[in-house]
Amino acid sequence: MVGSFKKKSTHLKMKVFKFGGASVKDAKAIQNAVKITDSYEGPIVVVVSAIGKTTNALEDLWSAFVSKDKKSTSEAFKKIVDFHQKLINELFQNRFEATHLFEKTVSQLSDYLNKESNNSLAFSYDQIVSYGELWSTIIFSGCLVSNSLNAKWMDARKIIRTSDHFQEARVNWAVTKELVQSSILKAFNNEPLLRCVVTQGFIGHTIDGYTTTLGREGSDFSASILAWATNADEVLIWKDVPGLLNADPKEFENTVKIDQISYKEAIELSYFGASVIHPKTLKPLQNSNIPLFLKSFLDPESEGTVIGSEDSADFKQASYIYKKNQLLISISPKDFSFILEDHISEIFGILSKAGVKVHLMQNSALNFSICASMKKTMLEPLINRLSEKFSVKYNEQVDLLTIRHYKNHKFPEKLKDKKVLIKQRSRSTLRYVLS
Ligand code: ASP
Ligand code: MG
Repeated sequence: MVGSFKKKSTHLKMKVFKFGGASVKDAKAIQNAVKITDSYEGPIVVVVSAIGKTTNALEDLWSAFVSKDKKSTSEAFKKIVDFHQKLINELFQNRFEATHLFEKTVSQLSDYLNKESNNSLAFSYDQIVSYGELWSTIIFSGCLVSNSLNAKWMDARKIIRTSDHFQEARVNWAVTKELVQSSILKAFNNEPLLRCVVTQGFIGHTIDGYTTTLGREGSDFSASILAWATNADEVLIWKDVPGLLNADPKEFENTVKIDQISYKEAIELSYFGASVIHPKTLKPLQNSNIPLFLKSFLDPESEGTVIGSEDSADFKQASYIYKKNQLLISISPKDFSFILEDHISEIFGILSKAGVKVHLMQNSALNFSICASMKKTMLEPLINRLSEKFSVKYNEQVDLLTIRHYKNHKFPEKLKDKKVLIKQRSRSTLRYVLS
């Protein structure tokens, strides 16, 4: 008998970590995240968001820049750079090997801000706001190295290829996979001692090399894109909560942690507005059957929640998703004609142009209602546009409560006195619009 021999496996047991802004908010938090990373074997792709509330601060900088307010621009810029510089001083005591890279990126942003810009608002948003992730990863990767972890910083603007829909760019999956192959996977294959590749969440690049962003809170999505493209074994998202809970503990008492949940159920929850995971995150993982662990960076030993393909293990207790400050819009044709497909498609065209996120819909013969959220500044132009053709009524600041698996639910005490504007019930979901 001819002896069988095994082909040497080239499969890397890859993990993807994602640290959000809160998990790296100051020197102590960063050191904790480094310790967590060090407690796992490589190879690990570490995706990091901007530090703390840096993205909000960069949005303010962008607002100052686009309103051509030179003084506010330079003050906001200085404040953000000083914040990072102070953190670097605290973490590295003069041994920061990435000083050059940090300074280079600081002066790139400074150059951009000092030029007159005729670019679109969305374009300049991406060119400015992307620096939060560049700086957090330069610092984080520097910390891994100074703790003797073999880590490499990589620029996601050379790896994640997107469309040129600035501020909400769409991923080019095929090109991204090739770029991941020739960067991240190549590095791990060529350097057996390499433990971590550190790269940015939230950002990518167009075919012309311009920086793009994937939408606010998009770093979870970046982690899942990279997990898909590296064919990782698992994704771990480090959070300040113990996992996925059946309600937001800031709003409700006696919340329960969900230990295990299917992709399908988790997609439903995030669609209804559960804010623990970015809604786009799960699809690429589901497609390649890569489990996602949500774990607490405050208690890294505890189990957390695993999101995977096991339907039978689904959590069937009631989950509560509560969204405040929603908008309820009621639309009816002015001539008493029925609300038909062509009306609805026209309405959706208008809503989509105004960047409205629709969370619930209801229609009758003469009326079409939506509960939605949108940028406040877009409300007036939206109502004007809709009013050209329809009679429009709206309420601001309504609440949307979704109860998933409502069979044995208790209606939340704190919402008992609210008025029910809409109630919708399906087999597994009960929804209320309240005011
Ligand atoms: N830093 C970006 C944001 O705050 C992306 C993220 O945190 O996921 O929106
Ligand atoms: Mg962030």
